[in-house]
Amino acid sequence: MEESKGSRIIMFPLPFPGHFNPMIQLAGIMHHRGFSVTILHTSYNSPDPSRHPHLTFRTIRHNNEGEGGDDPLSQSETSRLDLVSLIRLLKQMYAEPFRESLAAEVGGGDTVCCLVSDAIWGKNTEDAAEEVGVRRVVLRTGGAASFCAFAAFPLLRDKGYFRNKQGSRLDDLVIELPPLKVKDLPVIETNDPEELYRIINDMVEGAKSSSGVIWNTFEDLERLSLMDLNSELQVPIFPIGPFHKHSVDLPPKTKNKEVYETTNWLDKQDPKSVVYASFGSLAAIEEKEFLEIAWGLRNSEQPFLWVVRPGLVRGTEWLESLPCGFVENIGSKGKIVKWADQLEVLAHPGVGAFWTHCGWNSTLESICEGVPMICTPCFTDQLVNARYIVDVWQVGMMLERSKMDRKEIEKVIKGAMIEEGDGMKERSFALKEKANLCLSKDGSSSKNLDKLVTHVLSFDNNAFAS
Ligand code: UDP
Repeated sequence: MEESKGSRIIMFPLPFPGHFNPMIQLAGIMHHRGFSVTILHTSYNSPDPSRHPHLTFRTIRHNNEGEGGDDPLSQSETSRLDLVSLIRLLKQMYAEPFRESLAAEVGGGDTVCCLVSDAIWGKNTEDAAEEVGVRRVVLRTGGAASFCAFAAFPLLRDKGYFRNKQGSRLDDLVIELPPLKVKDLPVIETNDPEELYRIINDMVEGAKSSSGVIWNTFEDLERLSLMDLNSELQVPIFPIGPFHKHSVDLPPKTKNKEVYETTNWLDKQDPKSVVYASFGSLAAIEEKEFLEIAWGLRNSEQPFLWVVRPGLVRGTEWLESLPCGFVENIGSKGKIVKWADQLEVLAHPGVGAFWTHCGWNSTLESICEGVPMICTPCFTDQLVNARYIVDVWQVGMMLERSKMDRKEIEKVIKGAMIEEGDGMKERSFALKEKANLCLSKDGSSSKNLDKLVTHVLSFDNNAFAS
């Protein structure tokens, strides 16, 4: 797109893989459309810029860094925090440095079309953008259905649904948000539930006051939720996903030894025989659950690839709580790794099912490869995504965390892999086709991307500033 040459977009991702990765993918998409993109990123979980030579990176530092070991965002300090407290701290610590960095970038030369900030940063980024006269577009890295649930929080609170979450009515339908049940409401265990409501409210209000919201989803997948959001938010919305399937020029990936070994192992498996198990980059489980998963995978007698991220199992380093000889006993039937190239794994013909925590990226990545899912959501939007995977798109089976013992795991895996999950594979394949179509020349996501580019180029930031 010639008209976007020389125009710059500034992006401000949240520093977690499930948020950072889609923002970087979006940066690649906009770069492909002729924009230059600058990523303002936090010093917390700082990325490796050399992996994205087409983008410009600037680090934002907070004021307590490097001063005599009292950094509240150091590894040792943050490992003690729950996710809600960590997000609160990130928002607090980076608000002012972000404001200064944005002002420096905007004052620096090229025309800045807009800021694209992660929805979780909320209204902080709105004030900063307003001050320098730049329009703000929001990227929501989760799905549309879960955002509808977040937007309904004040109503659900008034109606007492969150009290029921602790009670005996977990299986009741949330009549305002079918097909969600009370147990699917996207909350998270935290010492500070009021802060959770504040973060969510800030995210929703920040989206409403933005100049548009970009979604990593597609119309054929979430049509009704997107229609609801259109009227709820009253700003332009751009469902242009799945981001990772857009054709853009990417630098070649660097593969480490673990990734090579994983590919070699997958190459030796029968087509669609492997259960790939991974619970994302943030979820943590108890040692007891870890052992049930291990035995369930082993007893299913299916080949499995299992990502055990260091930090996944509370209070342990990595695999040390497995019984002595467990790994040797599995032999080549199973493979346990610390991290996988998930996109590559899901695209591998050997993979037959994905046992997932249902993070939105994982959900979308699985849908795009037509891989049926076994759903064990842990918190927030994962609970909503799982309900949609199982009841709406019907491309997965539920394996609730509270019911997850080795017998149940074995049963569900065998159900998904051997009994073929009652048409689940066919539906997964059909959904994959829809995901491909939305990115074709006249597909909905391609058209929405054209609209987004036109929208962004139409911003007259000087008029906005006055
Ligand atoms: N991921 C990966 N390798 C792993 C685990 C995760 O590449 O071993 C990637 C995955 O492809 C996805 C992201 O990390 O893009 C996780 O995002 P998601 O929204 O699924 O879950 P979260 O980590 O935010 O809970």
